[in-house]
Amino acid sequence: MKTAIEHAEQPSIGSGEWTRRDFVRLSGSCAGYLAAGLAAVPLTARRAYGSRVSGQVVAESDFARIEKLGEGVWAVISTPLKNGTTHFETTSNGGIVLGSQGLLHIEGYMSDEGAAWVAEHSERLTGERPTHVVVTHFHGDHCHGLPGAVSSSQFVYSTPTTKALMAAGEEPLLPGQTLNEEANGRIDLGGVTVGITPRKGHTASDITIEVQEHQVVFCGDLVWNEMFPNFVDAIPSHQVRHCEEILGRAGVRYVPGHGAIGDAAELANYLGLLQDLESAGRRAAERGLTPLEATAAYEIPVPLGEFLQFGGDYVERAFVAWNRELIGQD
Ligand SMILES: [Zn+2]
Repeated sequence: MKTAIEHAEQPSIGSGEWTRRDFVRLSGSCAGYLAAGLAAVPLTARRAYGSRVSGQVVAESDFARIEKLGEGVWAVISTPLKNGTTHFETTSNGGIVLGSQGLLHIEGYMSDEGAAWVAEHSERLTGERPTHVVVTHFHGDHCHGLPGAVSSSQFVYSTPTTKALMAAGEEPLLPGQTLNEEANGRIDLGGVTVGITPRKGHTASDITIEVQEHQVVFCGDLVWNEMFPNFVDAIPSHQVRHCEEILGRAGVRYVPGHGAIGDAAELANYLGLLQDLESAGRRAAERGLTPLEATAAYEIPVPLGEFLQFGGDYVERAFVAWNRELIGQD
């Protein structure tokens, strides 16, 4: 099978071994963000989270569904708040892309169980095991389940920064190839070419994955749909600039890191929120406001609509991130 990645660095092999650890290692990841303060979220909002379907549903469980977006392209949409209870098996969204010479999985999900569920349905749908698994960033809800998804004979691809951050967070390191975080890359799956764009902003290293033939972009956690994003590791100016570049294209379907699939119009408010937070963050820094003071003075503009928030401090986290970037203070 041809599995070349153009512009990739030489393969770097990880330990090839991983230790089984507790299922939920929530702190620091977007799963922790989702788990925190759930009691504060109204049941109707929880039910609505991620519920809007764009493609044809070909598999569904309590925690996720798989939507077919075109021939050989599927999105995995996690529904961790379905029916008012919590289901963290997959937690993050992801994807499956099939070519004549390879099968790409996007993300490793939160738990072995969740990743195994995706792998099982992927094999049923495609008749193949993945030849490539790409992890968009180091947060546990995107990579913690890798041991359940892939065997040691399969490659996992991430950027050097993501790999280092995964190692620092004791996430599973599997044999893999390193993606160049300085230049765009491509994976030729045979009849389908997948573009890999290195970015940053949600974390120090993020990537987006584009399937041009089907006008689908897998955005990782740079994009959240109808949810206030997690700024805990954010470099917010980079996040805004990259989202301005990613979003807004007519005819493109965007698979966010969390929430339902959206098009340019549906995600315009999300981009508007990031831009509004930038203006407010820069104003607050100029006036010497603390993140707490900036938060007290901030309201999401009504025309931008509502964003699901899981606790009281998420806006503050955004201003903490802006403060960190603009004046170097947490
Ligand atoms: Zn994340």
